[in-house]
Amino acid sequence: MDTKNKGFNTKLIHSGDYEDCFGSVVTPIYQTSTFKFKDAGHGGDCFSGKSDDYIYTRMGNPTINSLECKIADLENGYRGIAFSSGMAAVSTVYMAVLSQGAHVLSTDAVYGPSRAVLERDFSRFGVEYSFVDTSKIELVEKAIKPNTKLIYLETPTNPTIMLTDIRKIADIAKKYGILVCVDNTFSTPYLQKPLDLGADIVLHSITKFINGHADIVGGVVVAKDKDVYDNLRKTMTFMGGNMDPHQAYMVNRGVKTLSLRMERSGKSAQKIAEYLEKHPKVEWVRYPGLKSHPHYELAKKQMTGFGSMISFELKGGFKAGEILMNNVKVAALAVSLGGVESLIQHPASMTHAGVSKEARNNAGISDGLVRYAVGIEDVEDLIDDMENALRKI
Ligand SMILES: *Cc1c(COP(=O)(O)O)cnc(C)c1O
Repeated sequence: MDTKNKGFNTKLIHSGDYEDCFGSVVTPIYQTSTFKFKDAGHGGDCFSGKSDDYIYTRMGNPTINSLECKIADLENGYRGIAFSSGMAAVSTVYMAVLSQGAHVLSTDAVYGPSRAVLERDFSRFGVEYSFVDTSKIELVEKAIKPNTKLIYLETPTNPTIMLTDIRKIADIAKKYGILVCVDNTFSTPYLQKPLDLGADIVLHSITKFINGHADIVGGVVVAKDKDVYDNLRKTMTFMGGNMDPHQAYMVNRGVKTLSLRMERSGKSAQKIAEYLEKHPKVEWVRYPGLKSHPHYELAKKQMTGFGSMISFELKGGFKAGEILMNNVKVAALAVSLGGVESLIQHPASMTHAGVSKEARNNAGISDGLVRYAVGIEDVEDLIDDMENALRKI
């Protein structure tokens, strides 16, 4: 089906559909490593680019391509590239765009490994980096250097839930000829379309909302222009972070309910955030859909909804966090987000237990901070669950 002028939900279901000779409604799993050429000339045409028929699964595969086309369509981009993980997507963008002596300017509260791979690995090849609070435009312009080649944004951030104005940053980047990449994992194209706001590249950990069922790890990158895409595709092919056809099949299946899941979890998150904000045992709540959020106006302008990630601070600090974790029953204690199940996390006692209190505080992770990824269970059950656990503190 030609989905060019169709709505978001029709694209979600039909973009990238693969028509096979049996009329299969669902894109099948092409579990093959390689593809037969019809003859020597055909092989030559495939390698010289005269034909875009499939050659070898690391380079391209119908099941994977179906997913890549769908996500590219949803993000209003040129084309997409699927990866074995979100971090393979992030690293491939860095590898494709940065060279020795290049500088990358990144959101300070960026996903931990997206920062760590620069500090630990790319630094060894002479890549420079600065981490700034990109929610403050004036800090971004000040941090640009003559060798800045990439501005890497994450909005909203985790677990601080701060927003960056993508359009304003993209306008500045254009003046200096710098590429802008946005990690859109938390919002998905259902809520935010960075390429429409001026970004050049958008990427996702597919593991989260896009797949939505907490059963695979994957990533995807979409470029706005052909040149940027071609470069990224070559780097992916050589670095080898490709997705597997079976993974792609799972995501093709999971993504179809993206709108329904985002709508339900977003509505529940709004209710839970409002409930928590009134709760006497809660110090503060960070959720872009609350008027108290410092970027509430930007969220309304830049996003079409507020998502399902909530951060809040418990009055009782570390101990209160532990008690809450040990008493929730519907929400599961786990990292990750974006699945149908609600997940809850207390960084101070769990993910950041090995980090010093000082370093935690510098990263905005206070002792009573809780991160809640709202799923699609009945919101009444989620609130009851929270109420019962909060009562134990
Ligand atoms: C999880 C995550 C990643 C990394 O993705 P993986 O699929 O775990 O490799 C990158 N960015 C954000 C915002 C994430 O939440």
